[in-house]
Amino acid sequence: MAFSMENYKYVQDILARRRTEAEDKARRNTAWVHEHSEEIREIDRKLSSTGFALIRAAMDKAPDVRERVAALREENLALQARRAALLREMGLPENYTAVIPVCAACKDAGHLDSGAMCACMRALLVEAGYRSSGLGSLLKKQSFDNFSLHFYEGDARRLASVALERAKEFAESFEKTGQNLLFMGGTGLGKTHLSTAIAKRAIERGFDVVYETAQNVISDFEYDRFKSGYGQSEDVPRSEKYFSCDLLILDDLGVEMSNQFTLSALYNVINTRINLGKSMLVSTNLGQKALLERYDERITSRLFGEFNPYLFRGTDIRLQK
Ligand SMILES: [Zn+2]
Repeated sequence: MAFSMENYKYVQDILARRRTEAEDKARRNTAWVHEHSEEIREIDRKLSSTGFALIRAAMDKAPDVRERVAALREENLALQARRAALLREMGLPENYTAVIPVCAACKDAGHLDSGAMCACMRALLVEAGYRSSGLGSLLKKQSFDNFSLHFYEGDARRLASVALERAKEFAESFEKTGQNLLFMGGTGLGKTHLSTAIAKRAIERGFDVVYETAQNVISDFEYDRFKSGYGQSEDVPRSEKYFSCDLLILDDLGVEMSNQFTLSALYNVINTRINLGKSMLVSTNLGQKALLERYDERITSRLFGEFNPYLFRGTDIRLQK
């Protein structure tokens, strides 16, 4: 598991807020009930004293301790039954003054008694991963399951089918293999759909995924350079996530502006990640020839030497739909 620390902290905060809200609500409801029912107020006073008496009796070594504990327990149950009846009479649910967690399984602690992570926390982490990946609503729509080969014909279908199988394998194993994928082909041929499906699966598996267009990656580097120029670089740089995330999906390579700065920023990301053995998926509308023309040898030798290329051909799926 490699949920990012940031998302982990975000989720811990959500759980802590849920606990506080549940306790506050119970306290408010109790105060209201006490205000409106003198008898319940009296019962609660007795209940807390029988609670203490029970503990004392249980610790006592007196010969009749069993009988005393049994008597106290009976009194306790009778008081609780009376209390529940009074709440019902007031038109309130029996648990009106109780602390009611959002998740009954872990009581909003995020972990079960066994120490295992609760399903509610896992779901929150996946949700946070979707959010921080930069993909948002696409993730809800595009998965491996709804990637249809039927929009492709002949050789294009064979290529798409290979890419689909390979993308599935990649999503399950990139952290072990450290492999990189290069998706090449025109707009509307399924590159984004498969990239999103990979991101979705990787996030579900607990990995920290960042999905961004090359243009936005460059913008973040420019922002960092601008900011450090003013001596305000105490924050985490925006570009930091492109190095630190478990999987970087760089979309639409080739539409960003091309100059010395953008080239060296791109090279820096690609080269650093390769050296760290951290996987990347790069997709581009450009073909091999156009890539060679546009990028210097430092970048193209990495792209063609360290990435497994997959071609997407056919007719724009969005037009077919
Ligand atoms: Zn839970």
